[in-house]
Amino acid sequence: MYLIIFGAPGVGKGTQAKILSSKLGIPHISTGDILRAAVKAQTVLGMKAQKIMSRGELVSDEIMIGIIKDTLSDPKCSKGFLLDGFPRTLAQAAAIDELLKELNLMEKILVVSLKADEEELIVRLTNRRACSKCQEIFNYKDIKDKDVCPNCGAVDSFYHRSDDQEDVIRNRFKIFQSVTLPILEHYEKMGKVISVDGFQHVEKVTEDILHSLAKRSGKEITIST
Ligand code: AMP
Repeated sequence: MYLIIFGAPGVGKGTQAKILSSKLGIPHISTGDILRAAVKAQTVLGMKAQKIMSRGELVSDEIMIGIIKDTLSDPKCSKGFLLDGFPRTLAQAAAIDELLKELNLMEKILVVSLKADEEELIVRLTNRRACSKCQEIFNYKDIKDKDVCPNCGAVDSFYHRSDDQEDVIRNRFKIFQSVTLPILEHYEKMGKVISVDGFQHVEKVTEDILHSLAKRSGKEITIST
């Protein structure tokens, strides 16, 4: 299966992408994770991206398109993939469409759009914390022992992503509305969009996505356990 997961910051794209990638047995390609890994490793790309990301702005189309072309040409993506965080501009959408046409995948690609109210998402994002050891993301309010990561057991490992501060979040939403949202219309016109309410329990969002994908493809979806 070839999927793009689309939605506003904080709507749960990353969480759903991880679950779907494991259930459907396809690689999860998160451009945000690729950039954060480059920042951590202090590569040339990472050093360029760091300041842009901390302001909540977008890394250049040229860099992002290059990253995606390299990633999708990897044989591990030949049987399916799930793109998370790309495309984010109409220029990126045009580039991926061209690549998908070259790979004869334009017929197969579907866009899963997660919907949610912006103000509720801002609250969710300001409460979000990531574990510096396993990179899992949590709502800080839901963590019982505030010092221990419930996923990997690391102690004192939580941090607040610099792009999850409220002023940066508002900037990310402004950019999302003006630059990223038009992509949805582009794929809606092509009849490629499946919309799901992203502000439900994580399990229910996954269930709705899998149900819509099965309905859309007209066949049952094989899920890895
Ligand atoms: P994410 O984890 O998807 O929210 O991405 C975190 C940050 O990485 C974004 O706020 C951007 O600064 C940058 N980024 C990720 N994907 C892209 C993209 N496709 N185009 C431009 N910048 C991106």
